[in-house]
Amino acid sequence: MTQPELPPTDDTSTQLPLYSPARVRELLAAHGLRPTKSLGQNFLIDGNILRSIAEAGGAAPGVPVLEIGPGLGVLTREVASRGARVTTLEKDERLRPVLAETLAGLDVQIVWGDALEFDYSSLEPGTRVIANLPYYITGLLLSRFMQATGVVSATVLVQKEVAQRLVAKPGQDNYGFLSALAALYGTVKHVRDVPKGAFFPAPDVTSSVVRLDFDRTRPQPEPEFVSFVDNALRYRRKTLRNNLKMMGHGGEAIDTVLADLGLRPDVRAEDVPLEQMRAAARSLGVIR
Ligand code: SAM
Repeated sequence: MTQPELPPTDDTSTQLPLYSPARVRELLAAHGLRPTKSLGQNFLIDGNILRSIAEAGGAAPGVPVLEIGPGLGVLTREVASRGARVTTLEKDERLRPVLAETLAGLDVQIVWGDALEFDYSSLEPGTRVIANLPYYITGLLLSRFMQATGVVSATVLVQKEVAQRLVAKPGQDNYGFLSALAALYGTVKHVRDVPKGAFFPAPDVTSSVVRLDFDRTRPQPEPEFVSFVDNALRYRRKTLRNNLKMMGHGGEAIDTVLADLGLRPDVRAEDVPLEQMRAAARSLGVIR
């Protein structure tokens, strides 16, 4: 990935706010662009939502912020103008001239390339992620943020259904691997719902802002345990016993572990609290 400097450009400060629908349309037209659905390009056009994401995310003077997908630069501008030091990753190279115009004069470093190829372990300690995520890679990106020890929080705009999965507890309808992962690395708070009309073009579903906080002072989850939980929760309709068998554990060993933990033989993995999941992994020799 290349990391070019922003070229000097015209001042946009005398024009309409960057997030106003008219300005967004004008920018796209001036650069001959159309939002690309496959890149999840739904641009924010609501100043209140932008301010509340920046606020909830902790954008403040000197704070290192990582953004994924600046798009036209609306959120980037809101965060950087609060004094945060922003690094932003963008895949769509057609946006180069737009961002050169909209982010001129701000402390922003743009990294052009695929956010899935970025080395998140290079982020400085204390980094806060603030982003309106491309929906088609939300889960993958969230797991990258969790595993990057420099990242202390992620305040992200996601589809409402993803937000519900993130906050779900064992035994609840939306509980799954993403919920477990979030709980293993820290805590999740629902900040607010965001209506479809806050975007251009409007997406098909409602979105939500959530803030994840990662506690980097405690030992981080072992990769073997994360992968154990992933496999245990993989087939939601099956029992934990079945999923453990598919991982290669013997039937007798599984029955002993379930009995020792006071779990029914037909318990489903999504009903098992993480402490019991950890005890099972330990008894089966997956972790120490
Ligand atoms: N931040 C802008 C806003 O709020 O208006 C745009 C957000 S839009 C939902 C998602 C952005 O992520 C787009 O700019 C899109 O081009 C970019 N994007 C999509 N896939 C990407 C990837 N794999 N790596 C980096 N950026 C990506």
